[in-house]
Amino acid sequence: ASGAGPEAPQVPRYVRVNVLKTSVDDVVEFFKRQGYSFLGRANSVEELKTLSGKKFMLDLHLPELLVFPPQTDFHDSRLYTSGHIILQDKASCLPAFLLSPSAGSHVIDACAAPGNKTSHLAAILKNKGHIFAFDVDTKRLATMNTMLMRAGVTSFKLAQQDFLTVDPHDPKYSKVKYILLDPSCSGSGMVARLPLDEAAPSAERLQALSGFQRRILSHALRFPAVQRLVYSTCSVHQEENEDVVHAVLQEQGSAFRLANVFPSWPCRGLATFPGAECCLRASPADTLTQGFFVAVLERCGEETAVPS
Ligand code: SAM
Repeated sequence: ASGAGPEAPQVPRYVRVNVLKTSVDDVVEFFKRQGYSFLGRANSVEELKTLSGKKFMLDLHLPELLVFPPQTDFHDSRLYTSGHIILQDKASCLPAFLLSPSAGSHVIDACAAPGNKTSHLAAILKNKGHIFAFDVDTKRLATMNTMLMRAGVTSFKLAQQDFLTVDPHDPKYSKVKYILLDPSCSGSGMVARLPLDEAAPSAERLQALSGFQRRILSHALRFPAVQRLVYSTCSVHQEENEDVVHAVLQEQGSAFRLANVFPSWPCRGLATFPGAECCLRASPADTLTQGFFVAVLERCGEETAVPS
């Protein structure tokens, strides 16, 4: 897989409009008033590569995602500090978009901090329903709490808890139909990191991560009402991606299968097992994003509408 590297193209600045606080039109107008030219919706990834200077576009794949030239910095922007926009890579917007929980539903975000995907889930839910968010890291949870408040997210419960110790049969989770699982990974897809060769995790580390990822994915599928689960990593390593999904699906027998999502997405899972092409990959070279992996698992006999 193509991951980070010295020759990797620069990734644009992606800006997710937080529709809990504002609208795409209002944000577009704001940036126009700041002297940016709006070029409309992009038709291709190639078109995004041509962005330069004070120009921006709407993304071709994801609604509510604006695209600016690489290195544009909005960390001091009023819209960012007030939670109207979220600075989030395009690939990292895929999990919540593909989980697509219906308004009013109960959702688990199993490894949630610092909360970008939780706030995206809340926006999709229109703050209706309930998000149970877990993380083990106290510091990251504190950051997350501030971030969710700023983003206007309500109807969520943050818990500092190892998700592996959360009881799937606790009645409070009996209505959880959707789970987003974005566990710790090697981070080998992150463009800002060292070139791939220098940053490559050791075989032992990959094995340890992959074991943890399998355990936590199996655990998540034990929630009795879960219909759809999105598994994602920002790793380019097969051991953390296709291998994890394949092993857990085999262990599940015929209970769950991969959903064939986003047929128009250009970069698919490595063909390491039948059906792996249902998974999505992302990379600077192919999708102009960070290196990323996403798989959508569905309970058999429970097909629900997934965005295409
Ligand atoms: N989903 C987050 C977001 O979009 O902002 C990023 C999650 S990050 C890739 C992985 C997170 O998993 C870390 O914050 C880490 O503390 C947490 N984590 C690791 N092991 C965990 C466990 N057993 N239970 C819950 N959280 C865990």
